[in-house]
Amino acid sequence: MRPAILYPLFAPVGSIRGLGPKLAKLVEKLAGPHVLDLLWHLPSSIVDRRLAPKVAEAPDGAVCTLTVRVDRHMAPATNRQPYRVCASDETGTVELTYFRGQPGWLSALFPIGAWVVVSGRVEWFNGRAQMAHPDQVAPLEEAETIQGVETVYPLVAGLASKVLRKAVQTALAAVPELPEWQDEHWFQRQGWPRWKPALVAVHAPQDEADLSLEAPARRRLAYDELLANQLALALVRRQQRRLAGRAVRGDGSLRARVLEALPYALTGAQGQALDEIYADMAAERRMLRLLQGDVGSGKTVVALLAMLNAVEAGHQAALMAPTEILARQHLETLTPLCAAAGIEVAVLTSRDKGKARAQLLERLAAGRIGILIGTHALFQDEVGFADLGLAVIDEQHRFGVHQRLQLSNKGRGVDVLVMTATPIPRTLTLTAYGDMDVSRLTEKPPGRKPVDTRTIPIDRLEEVVAGIRRKIAEGARAYWVCPLVEESEQIDLAAATERHAYLLGALGSRVGLVHGKMKPSEKDAVMAAFAAGSIDVLVATTVIEVGVNVPEATVMVVEHAERFGLAQLHQLRGRVGRGAGASTCLLLFDQPLGPTARARLAILRETEDGFRIAEEDLRLRGAGEVLGTRQSGLPEFRLADLAVHGDLLAVARDDASLQLERDPELETPRGQALRTLLYLFERDQAVRYLRSG
Ligand code: ADP
Ligand code: MG
Repeated sequence: MRPAILYPLFAPVGSIRGLGPKLAKLVEKLAGPHVLDLLWHLPSSIVDRRLAPKVAEAPDGAVCTLTVRVDRHMAPATNRQPYRVCASDETGTVELTYFRGQPGWLSALFPIGAWVVVSGRVEWFNGRAQMAHPDQVAPLEEAETIQGVETVYPLVAGLASKVLRKAVQTALAAVPELPEWQDEHWFQRQGWPRWKPALVAVHAPQDEADLSLEAPARRRLAYDELLANQLALALVRRQQRRLAGRAVRGDGSLRARVLEALPYALTGAQGQALDEIYADMAAERRMLRLLQGDVGSGKTVVALLAMLNAVEAGHQAALMAPTEILARQHLETLTPLCAAAGIEVAVLTSRDKGKARAQLLERLAAGRIGILIGTHALFQDEVGFADLGLAVIDEQHRFGVHQRLQLSNKGRGVDVLVMTATPIPRTLTLTAYGDMDVSRLTEKPPGRKPVDTRTIPIDRLEEVVAGIRRKIAEGARAYWVCPLVEESEQIDLAAATERHAYLLGALGSRVGLVHGKMKPSEKDAVMAAFAAGSIDVLVATTVIEVGVNVPEATVMVVEHAERFGLAQLHQLRGRVGRGAGASTCLLLFDQPLGPTARARLAILRETEDGFRIAEEDLRLRGAGEVLGTRQSGLPEFRLADLAVHGDLLAVARDDASLQLERDPELETPRGQALRTLLYLFERDQAVRYLRSG
């Protein structure tokens, strides 16, 4: 249960004094439903109004706060001229100008003879000072309502800056002091403020440095968030470890046969990953391991050997792929190897129906199928294993944590191996998969040729097509990927269809089209034709993004490359360079290129190392955007920015694990404070894993 001390922070924003229901709705839309959300809505900039010169000394172009007496009003003759209010002090006169000013409103605001304080940008014209549309006006008696340094917040239409500032200040006044959850020693060394003063400070920046993500108050809050994240993950991880697992130790007989049948030797990285996996499986606790490796780094065979380990020990294994195409491709790859091992492998997707399906399910329940490959159809209740020992999940970011658990619930103490071809920066691995152990395939199978990567403006389309015509004549096969436009599949499709028609005209009939709206069987047919070489060019929307393997394809064209993320482009490029031939990747872009797009394309030309690309991606985009947060299931941070606060993450992880070692149930005073921290960041679920949670 949420501690009472936090109640005011989780009250609805509408409870803030002075925020009526209408404004509260806007604030909620902007920041979130709770008072705390508003407090985490941080200023984006400041306006310094502290310069308060006499009129004659006001610098041209500077924001000034002037104290002046109103002399006269000059209504404009025509609508194209501004309404002018002349005001002065003993050194000179300033004209306050308002285009389309309402005379009634202005006379009330500027009574003749009254002293007022106005703040805004002063400009000099022909020796005359002007202030167009002052930002702030107040009668002299209320001068203190004009902040010396004004905080500026991101806003939504209909919500005035002043209102938001006021709401923040009102909310801040009611913020409780919370017990310190940071390690006192660490805290003292950082020289950071306590929690409440930190919160007050981030809302009262006095200069640009205070706005920086590196400002002490901001770093403190960021650390709190990272600590909550790491502590929660550590608790989840411990919980998973507590669930009973089984010691799975095969005798190596099936694996020996497969290794014999493989036309190559395992790379060192593959061997090491397998050692880690076998050790996990042999342990009494459940395995929860992430296998990261670039496209083409050879994850499939690692998965197969792990699955055979389970089968040798008398269990079954499941391999789950994100798409139909990939499931069938896995089947194709694994069938000859499973035959060599002498075990039965099968595939189950939503397309398998009727009698064949019933028979398959029967063989599965009887334990005759050793390895079952499938899509999310594997989740269905009717799919029952005799004894599932290992679940391998390919391309993790398409599945959520929840689904991961669903699959592992289909057996007793099922070990889980998650494979992802999206290299994730180390920092992000920690925040998102802190509950998992990680193996990385950093070394590629030998004989891979580097892909010649070029960036070309789209105006040179005809040249590109001519180049492809030449390559095809030499026997090459090419992918042509059409851009992802907005959210609309309709538009994607139109672009791809149009390009397909154009290439048909330019290259002849051996050009195929595959897109997300096609029936699976149609898709498969086109893919198969491309794999078999009966078509030379495959125009595709991004359905080919994941996993597809056609080693003979040596050309990858990506249209509107500037619209893709780095990781996505890297994945697409990974489709080529898989066979013996030299490969080319042409990234077509539309001008003008923004600086970020330019930097992205430059990185792709420079390196093929997925892990490095992922780090650069993080640097260029910020953590939230890497991989597309929503799809990837990566956490979004409110206060921490991993591109800047990445150094704090490792500290937070160590801090969390050390604390749990010393104080496993968070019962010490610091432990209690850390519970409050978990609730503050809504990690309530993690608290439940504690005794007396
Ligand atoms: P991933 O799933 O990681 O993208 P795959 O498992 O599909 O990569 O492997 C890519 C290609 O590399 C496959 O054709 C596979 O047969 C081959 N391969 C895998 N391991 C090795 C190795 N150790 N040596 C040579 N080729 C390998
Ligand atoms: Mg794969």
